[in-house]
Amino acid sequence: MASSETLPVLLRQLRLSTMAQLWEPLLTSAEKERWNPAQYLAALCEQELNERHSRRITRFTKESCLPVGKTLPTFDFSKIPMIRQEKIEALAQNSDWVKRAENLLFFGPSGVGKTHLAAAIAHSLIEQSIRVRYFTTTALVQKMQQARADLQIENFLGKLDKYSVIVLDDLGYVKKTDAETHVLFELIAHRYETGSIIITSNQAFGEWDKIFSDPSMTVAAIDRVVHHATIIEIQAVSSYRKRQAIANNINTNFGQKVSPKSMTEMIER
Ligand code: ADP
Ligand code: MG
Repeated sequence: MASSETLPVLLRQLRLSTMAQLWEPLLTSAEKERWNPAQYLAALCEQELNERHSRRITRFTKESCLPVGKTLPTFDFSKIPMIRQEKIEALAQNSDWVKRAENLLFFGPSGVGKTHLAAAIAHSLIEQSIRVRYFTTTALVQKMQQARADLQIENFLGKLDKYSVIVLDDLGYVKKTDAETHVLFELIAHRYETGSIIITSNQAFGEWDKIFSDPSMTVAAIDRVVHHATIIEIQAVSSYRKRQAIANNINTNFGQKVSPKSMTEMIER
């Protein structure tokens, strides 16, 4: 018969740190509430799992490098009436599309909430224990170019495989040079049907020839990205940033003072 004295040591050896911490206080509750041994054990296991889950979410959030605070509850859907809130919520809450390695694309002009929505969906996926990594596309392209120069590109792409979702923010800002767009194409080709990409871009497909230097590469990139993809286009409502700036009474109109009347006109634009 094992001695209860050894329990803390055994639990730590089994790496059940929460159980090791809680077995004693929970035993007091168990005796008071007259739990049977199985109930006590179940309660301890539940605490261990809950604690592991929350540690995992903290770890995944940190490694994701997602912008902080850009979540669904902080997004005001009334500002973009053309986007169905249920559709965004479905993408955030039902991760089947990630399991199928599908992509998600947000197109629209600057300031309409593309990055916010992409990050919000990504945060929800992390809550479901899905690993995500956010990059501004230009930063990722630079890292990949460095990896290529160090003959480490395969290794680098392999490391990204552990993330089920890669967010490529502002794809349209990549410079159209052979070297830059080639690594970008390599990433798209590498993840095709194996891992999801969330892309935000101010340039819809028609303009992607401005991103990729070679027309056949443009077509091949679009083919791979859209083969299994949800595309969300946000029309040119007035930019949220501009609305905020105006609401804060900051002059956004190239140094000219903005009268209340012209502010309203700017919001309407
Ligand atoms: P984009 O990526 O389309 O340029 P962002 O997502 O960066 O736009 O949005 C610009 C700023 O405005 C961010 O701080 C974002 O959180 C905020 N924002 C944009 N749209 C909304 C919205 N509908 N509700 C709340 N905040 C918004
Ligand atoms: Mg953005």
